[in-house]
Amino acid sequence: MKIRRHKHTKRVLKYYHSNFKFDTKFFNVLIDGTFANEALNCKINIAEQLPNFFDVKENKCKLWTTKCAIHETEILGKPTRGAMLILKQYQLAECQHKRQYVSSEKCFKDLINKSVDKKYIVATQSESLKEIVRNTPGVPLMLISHNAINLEKPSESSDKLVNQQTEGKLAVKDELDVIKKMKQKLLENKPQVKRLHKKKKAKGPNPLSCKKSKKKQNFKPINKKNSPKNN
Ligand SMILES: [Zn+2]
Repeated sequence: MKIRRHKHTKRVLKYYHSNFKFDTKFFNVLIDGTFANEALNCKINIAEQLPNFFDVKENKCKLWTTKCAIHETEILGKPTRGAMLILKQYQLAECQHKRQYVSSEKCFKDLINKSVDKKYIVATQSESLKEIVRNTPGVPLMLISHNAINLEKPSESSDKLVNQQTEGKLAVKDELDVIKKMKQKLLENKPQVKRLHKKKKAKGPNPLSCKKSKKKQNFKPINKKNSPKNN
């Protein structure tokens, strides 16, 4: 079971790496209260298990949350106190909701849509947040099922975008082929145009040489005029 899960994880990560330039050497995992809570229920130590899950060293897996997600666990009180304590150990991803806290669903949605430098894996048990992640191409979804951490297979939205990009690339290739053929046709006519230019250039130096000869001709008569006066 473990080996099969490990192979599945590798396959999913490879997909995100080749299609969405996802880093497979360093992981940023964005965790909400529902995931932390479920991990606690299943006695899963997220910070310990995730590096093993990705098969990397501890410092190559960074755990993130937001103030909004922590605030949510604080509002719910006792039932999510454990989850709150877990989330507070994680790095805070800067969201735009400064003290005007929103639900972790909305907060994470904004974060994954606007984050350019960091590509997050979203870890959640919330059905509505899962749907948001599934509808955002290129964002891996992490969840806990059968008492274990799992990476969901790429969503339909991710697949759709990848297919569109592949079709787009093929269309560009077709267009390039057409342009190439057109260029070849144009080049067939080009040598004639070049010859015409060369002929024009060849005519160029003649007027200059004519001018020089005129100057010489002008000097000679002056000398001739001067010489009779002296005489
Ligand atoms: Zn927020």
